[in-house]
Amino acid sequence: MKIICIGRNYPQHIDELNNERPENPVIFLKPDTAILNKEQAFVIPEFSNQIEHEVELLVKINKVGKYIAPKFANKYYEQIGLGIDFTARDLQSQLKSKGLPWEISKGFDGSAVVGAFFPKSEFTSLENLNFHLEKNGEIVQKGNTNEMIFVIDEIISYISQFYTLKVGDIIYTGTPAGVGIVAPNDVLVGYIEDKKAFELKVM
Ligand code: MG
Repeated sequence: MKIICIGRNYPQHIDELNNERPENPVIFLKPDTAILNKEQAFVIPEFSNQIEHEVELLVKINKVGKYIAPKFANKYYEQIGLGIDFTARDLQSQLKSKGLPWEISKGFDGSAVVGAFFPKSEFTSLENLNFHLEKNGEIVQKGNTNEMIFVIDEIISYISQFYTLKVGDIIYTGTPAGVGIVAPNDVLVGYIEDKKAFELKVM
């Protein structure tokens, strides 16, 4: 399986990182070794002093597809989940400033928290879905899918022009504003609406 991530999909997050609004979805991949199951603790890697949380809605692909039209994209997923795209922001900034690929700052071991998935039928509208992240009991990130620049079906369609989607692939759909640093002993809890998707300790 592969993990496909979308960057810069929420206007307020683009502003907080001083990035430009993209014309097309910004795509990057994480290897399967990046997956951190929701039962595991996240260990801060020694190569970074600035690991930041990015809470994101996840989509799990359940059918092989290539060149999927947006209007048919909803047939390629049944489950929605929540996860964290952990980012070594210091490393990413260094690599970005040199114009180099910043893949290692996003794809390192444990950087892809995968929480619980729920059938999409449990939600009334995927285009008006609230999710949030709590750090040590306080809400630090709050998003609604109605803020997305590219909605789920457009994302699937766009990705599938370049990468064949396969059963079990997971798409990270971008983070809302409020990304921030994590420290040892932090506890991160994620919710889609009122459903708890993960609870994770930082070490
Ligand atoms: Mg992200």
